[in-house]
Amino acid sequence: GSDREAILSTRQLTKKFGGLTAVDSVGFTVAAGEIRCLIGPNGAGKSTLLELITGQLSPTQGDIYFDGLDLTALEPHERMDAGISVKFQSPHIYESLTVEQNLRVPLQRTDRETETVLTDTLERISLAQQANVSASDLSHGEKQRLEIGMAVTLDPKLMLLDEPVAGMSIDETADIAELIRSLHDDGMTFLVVEHDMEFVRKISEQVTVLNQGSILRQGPIEDIESDDEVRRIYLGE
Ligand code: ADP
Ligand code: MG
Repeated sequence: GSDREAILSTRQLTKKFGGLTAVDSVGFTVAAGEIRCLIGPNGAGKSTLLELITGQLSPTQGDIYFDGLDLTALEPHERMDAGISVKFQSPHIYESLTVEQNLRVPLQRTDRETETVLTDTLERISLAQQANVSASDLSHGEKQRLEIGMAVTLDPKLMLLDEPVAGMSIDETADIAELIRSLHDDGMTFLVVEHDMEFVRKISEQVTVLNQGSILRQGPIEDIESDDEVRRIYLGE
């Protein structure tokens, strides 16, 4: 509900690339424990917004607050230490390493109990049987699960996912939805960029619609899907 505490909020967050304003004075809040989906047409600024939150990009203007911290001036690794993990749109796994070796990479720079975390994470992402398989031999869906698993090893408070089910089959998509919901049940907060409305409907209560860098609408999925302007701009009706 709306009485839940905010874990992430942005204020007048803006990113310009030369003359193009990719993110335009965005102010929004994600409550602790929610699964928020961020939708919008190609070029709306969704990936840019995620990269501002992780610190991959610096804002032209505005602030980002997370879990009581002003993130705006922090480096990406400091934001990770504060509890933000991300799975970017493009793949970031090590094809020449095994599944387990991939999961060890993010753990190297933490003091988490590695063997326990590895076993738990392999179970979670349903890749325990493939622990010693080369990542290059995984299916597309398994690779996406592995990459989410790499973020999960850090036990983040907030997980950012950029198009986690792009290019996936219906079964692979259902597996990801189940994985997200199970992590959510354990208290993880999500901000998920996704086009697949069927998937959005499965995981999300509140949806934020971005258009040309600005928030066009925000609300429950039913309201968003029945909104005339959203349908016109986003769903092409
Ligand atoms: P989305 O993820 O919603 O499809 P993006 O955030 O990737 O949108 O892009 C928003 C706008 O910013 C687009 O017009 C894109 O071309 C532009 N853009 C994104 N990254 C850069 C960059 N590094 N340099 C210049 N323009 C960029
Ligand atoms: Mg994008």
